[in-house]
Amino acid sequence: MKALVYRGPRDVAVEDRPDPTIQAPTDAIIRITTTNICGSDLHMYEGRTSVEAGKILGHENMGVVEAVGDALTRIKVGDRVSVPFNIACGTCRNCLHGWTSFCLRTNPTEGMDGAAYGYANMGPYDGGQAQFLRVPYADVNLLRLPPGTEHENDFTMLSDIFPTGWHGTELAGQAPGDTVAVFGAGPVGLMAAHSALIKGADRVFVVDKETDRLAMAGKLGAIPVNFAEGDPVQQIMDATDGVGADCGVEAVGYQAHDPSGDEHPELVLDNLVDVVRSTGGIGVVGVYVPQDPNAPDKRAREGRIGWQYGTFFTKGQRMGTGQAPVMRYNRQLRDLIIAGRAQPSFLVSHELPLAEAPEAYGHFDRREHGWTKVLLHPGD
Ligand code: NAD
Ligand code: ZN
Ligand code: ZN
Repeated sequence: MKALVYRGPRDVAVEDRPDPTIQAPTDAIIRITTTNICGSDLHMYEGRTSVEAGKILGHENMGVVEAVGDALTRIKVGDRVSVPFNIACGTCRNCLHGWTSFCLRTNPTEGMDGAAYGYANMGPYDGGQAQFLRVPYADVNLLRLPPGTEHENDFTMLSDIFPTGWHGTELAGQAPGDTVAVFGAGPVGLMAAHSALIKGADRVFVVDKETDRLAMAGKLGAIPVNFAEGDPVQQIMDATDGVGADCGVEAVGYQAHDPSGDEHPELVLDNLVDVVRSTGGIGVVGVYVPQDPNAPDKRAREGRIGWQYGTFFTKGQRMGTGQAPVMRYNRQLRDLIIAGRAQPSFLVSHELPLAEAPEAYGHFDRREHGWTKVLLHPGD
C-alpha cells in the first residue's frame, strides 16, 4: 500500500509499505477513505519529538472495515467507521471510567499512559495516512457511521478535533450563558468555539493572528481577536467591561508565538490566567510535550515551562489538561451532525490525494493563507 512516512524534520514522503494484517483476534483492518493532517502532526514534522524515522503518520482516520479478527462480535466487514485517535483497551481502570486517552494497557512506553496511531511516545502503532490501517481492540474503539458517503467531511472531524474542542470546553467547566475565551483559531480552536456556541455560550472570543482563521471564527458566530493588533487580554477586558471571560480554552500548545513570531510556550497560559475571572476554569487541549530525554528540542528534553502559577492560585482558578478521550463524546457529536446541529466541515480548506500530502504538510506547517484543514483521500 501507499503510506505517508516520517523521515526526519520537515521531511515526509509517500512510500510503498506492506498492507497491515490482523495480528490479534481483536484487531480490524480499515480501508481509509479520509485521513487528515493535524496540528499535532507538526510536533513531529517540525522535529520536536523523538519519533522514529519510518513511522507512518496519521491519527485522524475514517473508512470502511476490510477485515476483522475472530474475536470481534460488534464490528463487521463493510461497516463505515470513525477511528478515535486514542487506542484504548476498554477494560483497564482508566478506560472503564471514560478516560480512554489514558489507557493503562495499550502504550508500552514507560511512564506514558494512553496510545495513538502514528504518534511519538504513544506506542508502536502506525498511522492512517495510508490506504489501510490496523485497529487494535476494534469492538471497543470503532464508532459506526451511517453507510454511504454522506457527511464524510463532517464525520472525519470525529476522530480527533471535534471531540478535542468539545473536551476543551468540558475541562473549562463551560456552562450555558458563559463568556468563553478560546486561544488559537487553528482547527482545534475553531472546534472549541463551535462546541462552546452549541453548548449555549453567550459570547465566544477567539484569539489568533491569522486573518483567514479569524474570519472563519467570525463566520461561526464568535468574536475574532487579533493579537497582532494589541494585547488580546486587554481587548477582551475592554469588550467585557473589565470582567473578563468566565472560562477559557487553550488550543495553541507548545508553539505559541508572540506578534513578532518568536516562540513563547508560556504566553497563552499566562493570557488565560489573566483573562479568565477568579474561580473560572481553563481547559488546556493544546499539546505540551512530555519530558523526553531523546528529543532534539531542549525544552522538550526538559519538559518544563514557566507560567503564572501564583496568579492562577490566587484567583482560585481550575485547569484541566491532556489528550481528549474521544469515545466520551464521539457518539453524541456524530448524532448532532446527523441532526444538522453541528457542521464541523466548515473548516475544510483542501481535499487531496495521498500523493500530495508531503507538499500539503509544508503549506499547513507554514500556516499559509487559506490552509486551515487538509483532508487526504488515499483512495483517489
Ligand atoms: P494549529 O497549529 O493549526 O493551530 C494553532 C493556532 O494557534 C494557529 O492558528 C496559530 O496562529 C495560533 N497561535 C499561535 N500563537 C498564538 C498566541 N500567542 N495566541 C493565540 N493563538 C496563537 O494546530 P491545531 O490543529 O489547531 O492544534 C492546536 C493544538 O491542539 C496543537 O498543540 C495540537 O497538538 C493540539 N491538539 C490536542 C489534542 C488533544 O487531544 N489534547 C488533539 C488534537 C490537537
Ligand atoms: Zn489530530
Ligand atoms: Zn485501557
